[in-house]
Amino acid sequence: MKYKKTQLIMVWLLPIIVIGGLFNAMLGYLVVAMMAFFLTLSFFKGRYWCWNLCPRGAFLDIVMSKYSLNKPVPKVFAKQWFRWMIFVLLISFVILRIFGTGGNVIAIGAVFVTMCLLTTVIAVVLGIVTRHRGWCAICPMGTLQEQIGRSSANRKTSPTS
Ligand code: SF4
Repeated sequence: MKYKKTQLIMVWLLPIIVIGGLFNAMLGYLVVAMMAFFLTLSFFKGRYWCWNLCPRGAFLDIVMSKYSLNKPVPKVFAKQWFRWMIFVLLISFVILRIFGTGGNVIAIGAVFVTMCLLTTVIAVVLGIVTRHRGWCAICPMGTLQEQIGRSSANRKTSPTS
């Protein structure tokens, strides 16, 4: 499998966050910075982040593609209701955890490290038992970028815009 140069650089951010974050929770703010960046980018380029820059996407392409059983993802992964359900569950989990920190900056960073670690474990499991990018079919951040990109494209082509 061929990788993009950007992926070979960005992939290092994943271990920095999920392993380094266990020792320094402030690294969780890298996740926040990346989210702000790719959500802005998605207005102009849809899921460009996913295929070129996402550290986890790069990890799935570079590493998990070698270990994947390459089985089809469950059909339910393609259903919008299922993808948005995963989105709501993950975002609710993050919001509840942030409320539980009482505003502690380090604890908030730890919430993002935990979220990244948890979703990476799920991505690895799905990467093995389905396709290497199985997780990307239901990743809440992918779902959101896709929606923003689509709405933005519709607005540009709308006769009233
Ligand atoms: S779908 Fe999620 S994990 Fe996959 S590349 Fe996009 S943001 Fe990264």
